[in-house]
Amino acid sequence: MQKRCLWCLEAEPLVSFSKKAHTIPMSLGGQNYNNNVCDSCNEYFGVQKEGNIFSIEEALKETFNISRRRFLTGFQPKRQVGRFKSKFFEIKERKGKYRLVIKPSFKFNPIFQKNLCRSFKRGLYKMFFEELNRQEGEGFEEKYNFIRKFARYNELDFPVFYFQRSVGLIALTKREAETPFLMFGRMKYLYSDSIFVEIEFLGHVFGFPKQNFTLDDFQTYHTKSMELKTNFFSGMIPIEKLTDIDFTLTILND
Ligand SMILES: [Zn+2]
Repeated sequence: MQKRCLWCLEAEPLVSFSKKAHTIPMSLGGQNYNNNVCDSCNEYFGVQKEGNIFSIEEALKETFNISRRRFLTGFQPKRQVGRFKSKFFEIKERKGKYRLVIKPSFKFNPIFQKNLCRSFKRGLYKMFFEELNRQEGEGFEEKYNFIRKFARYNELDFPVFYFQRSVGLIALTKREAETPFLMFGRMKYLYSDSIFVEIEFLGHVFGFPKQNFTLDDFQTYHTKSMELKTNFFSGMIPIEKLTDIDFTLTILND
């Protein structure tokens, strides 16, 4: 059967499918790949950009690896294996609590936060969309065009919400931190309907629209989602900058 690309919608032989397209970056331990991603789209997500433009892979890797190392080593300095190294962030420790700060070389760059955050949000859509297609065979439908526009072509803007935990109870095995995967419905507190979807990845819960929505749709979603999360989460915030996200998982300290 002739293959067609999930992102650019082009088919063979106009585009080729010779490389493995990992849904979750290999640099994060991802092991699954999507067969419907053409080589040029695959390359687009991974290739390092110039200046203040960050690739999708870079944005995902530099952030989620912070949480991953927290799960695997607890940032303990004695454990060489998991020594923390990030291009953009530093971990500050005080009385056993960790805090994420932006490295001085990026701190005063006004577009750094904005651009990296946008690439990160597009990266969440990218992982979700490729996994949705891999796990459920969906994705070529027209209603998903906005995901293609945002994640692949850097057009439009869509919100991503972050759920702030109220208790440090995260169901994640060491093995899952080593080779993380993305789930839509495993935990009972994850809410989804025809418009909004929620994912859990490396201990973090995110929600976002999977098609166009009205303010009413959003209010309904917000109410229903928070009802499910009463005992675990204190609130949801739209992600504006990456330091809004508890990548160091300070909640695990309590
Ligand atoms: Zn393509």
